[in-house]
Amino acid sequence: MNVKEAIQLLNESKGMHVYDVFIPSVQKEISFKPITTGQQKTLSKFSMNANTFNLDYEFMKLALFDELKISNEPITSNDLTELDMVCFLAGIRLNNIMEPLEIICKCGECDNKFEFKIDLDTVIQKCKGLDQKEFLIKTTIDDIRYELTIKYPTYKSLIELEEYINLLSKELSYNEDQTIESRLFLKPAFFIYDLKINEVEVENFNTLDFLSKIEMYNELPPTLTILGENSILNLLLTKFNLQETSSILNIIKCPKCKHELEGVLSNDSFFII
Ligand SMILES: [Zn+2]
Repeated sequence: MNVKEAIQLLNESKGMHVYDVFIPSVQKEISFKPITTGQQKTLSKFSMNANTFNLDYEFMKLALFDELKISNEPITSNDLTELDMVCFLAGIRLNNIMEPLEIICKCGECDNKFEFKIDLDTVIQKCKGLDQKEFLIKTTIDDIRYELTIKYPTYKSLIELEEYINLLSKELSYNEDQTIESRLFLKPAFFIYDLKINEVEVENFNTLDFLSKIEMYNELPPTLTILGENSILNLLLTKFNLQETSSILNIIKCPKCKHELEGVLSNDSFFII
């Protein structure tokens, strides 16, 4: 057989080695096929520079979901939340790379340098235990009636937001505080799943492209978006734990002083070998 036929044969045989990964937003197991050496190489390469935000890597992780998924479940990479992404990548690592995941860490408290074995099963179990929050806001401001469904944003919208804020901070020479502020200002827009104004639905609000969504959001009254007790931002701060996903990954403890290391493990670290 020629190379083309060999690749064809290998692709077909992948259907035989199916494994299931729990995806929180659909609350069920989804079946995937194994990754190829090429995909493994790319994931490992990007993992080494995981500390800096890389748009190509983020989009590659999303594309991987669509490439590997073999279930008929209608979920696509566009629907995934941050939590889904953690479970998906942890599941891919667990089912494709048999070696344990070990990370070299340095304790911020006692300077102890140590190697920590990550238990990705525990991470998945923690994700399973979290509920998928959804809230309805109904309010009337200046004689206009608003009705909004608020839930966790898609991973795709969060990476687009991160890229947008990166560009904005460079262009306007933001300092760190200004960058954080603009993120806080814009992020609530991506928690809006659908929007009704005077009982009429804004068509496909959730799937609007990034800039149209920001444009629409900027037109809403501040008492609805960021100011006061009934605003979306206040709902996010009180009912949603904005650090939930990253806190799920705070499982590394210094063996010497028992200090918990925060922000060391991210879904990008899963493919370090
Ligand atoms: Zn320590």
